[in-house]
Amino acid sequence: MLTAICRYGPRVVPDTRAIIARCRARGEIVHGPDIRHFERACAAYVGAADGVSTSFGRMALYYILQALDLPSGGEVIVPALTFWVVPEIVRAAGLTPVFADVDPRTFTLDPASLERAITPRSVAVIPTHLYGLPCDMDAIGDIAARAQLAVIEDCAHALGARWRGRHVGTFGDAAFFSFQTLKPLNTYGGGLAIARDPQVRARIRQQAGSEPWPSVERIDKRLRLGAVQRTFSRPGVFTCTAYPALVAAMLWKARPDVYLWEKIRPLSPLPDGYRERYTNVQAALGLAGLHRLAAWTSATRMHARIMDDALREIPGVQIPHVPEGAEHVYYQYCLYTPDRDRVVRRALLRGVDVETLHVDVCSTLSLFGSQPPTPGAERAAEAIQVPVYASLHRAGARRVAGRIQRVLAGIGGLPAPDRPAPVGAGPSGR
Ligand SMILES: *Cc1c(COP(=O)(O)O)cnc(C)c1O
Repeated sequence: MLTAICRYGPRVVPDTRAIIARCRARGEIVHGPDIRHFERACAAYVGAADGVSTSFGRMALYYILQALDLPSGGEVIVPALTFWVVPEIVRAAGLTPVFADVDPRTFTLDPASLERAITPRSVAVIPTHLYGLPCDMDAIGDIAARAQLAVIEDCAHALGARWRGRHVGTFGDAAFFSFQTLKPLNTYGGGLAIARDPQVRARIRQQAGSEPWPSVERIDKRLRLGAVQRTFSRPGVFTCTAYPALVAAMLWKARPDVYLWEKIRPLSPLPDGYRERYTNVQAALGLAGLHRLAAWTSATRMHARIMDDALREIPGVQIPHVPEGAEHVYYQYCLYTPDRDRVVRRALLRGVDVETLHVDVCSTLSLFGSQPPTPGAERAAEAIQVPVYASLHRAGARRVAGRIQRVLAGIGGLPAPDRPAPVGAGPSGR
């Protein structure tokens, strides 16, 4: 039988249950010493002095914007291709998001477009290391310094990625990370803020620290939801649950709703549940995850190389471009192909659940009103995202590569690649 492969594979520490049980036995689900340990360890991992944990990555951004004391109504330049929550949080913090375009080759902020977006009201820029690829922090840093913009790095996809050997998160005035289930470090929600200036850091800590603690019941619910998500993304379970629903939706030309994304909506006033503290059990899981992060990153990168090797020579296909100086961690592996929608449908029928747009072309969302066009972001939205996550293992990655290779060979009369499909996937699912 065909084994279907889910687009997502959350990173889960093997002793998750034991860690939760240990926190519970000590009465340290909510409060506890692991929070400070985790803040310090996570900051140290990237080479920063200290960090402040928050309920969400977006709240880390919110506190950073407040702590930098930016003039109200000031313009914050955001890449047009990003998670809609980022510009919306800018607005919730009393500032005005302005979109700059991305380079469709890298999916990240285009320095030339940043330059053009600057006005006398510009106060900050949020370079996003989208999909795990560091932005050109030399060019962006120079432009920001000349225009006196604060630089806030969005590292939600890129914990562990480096630009010229230095970790992302250490180039700007401040940076934030997310620990949602699918992010590079999964603690079932949460975020971290880092800031260069100790006074800014102290103001972030003061704000984050004055939020109320969540209840144990609330945290238990979050951990249970995480366990469910993780079960459904396992190949055996995915194949007989979400996968048939996705195929049925495709055949009926319906929009599948098996992935429950957050509804795009205004975030001011901040929704309930945003204003709370990060908990000890999450920090304990984060500490265990940090020990595995390097191994997860190298597995993901190895899977990306398997895709590169299998797909790079297929005519009309463009594998991810990694500029010199950037170390990609492949939170997403983005591929441009001819006849995108047909590729997606055929991949699904062959058992590979391919995603099309993992974030949003924010400049086209009605939430932000009418905005100047951003052709780079619109082009970038045409890429597909092929699974390369760590829990695929080498055999799974080879299986994905072989299936995608066959789909692409059959599209638009393209000649079949001369290279044979990679071996090692075994006879099943072909
Ligand atoms: C996930 C994400 C965030 C915010 O993270 P939360 O923890 O969900 O608030 C910010 N930026 C990008 C690009 C993201 O994908």
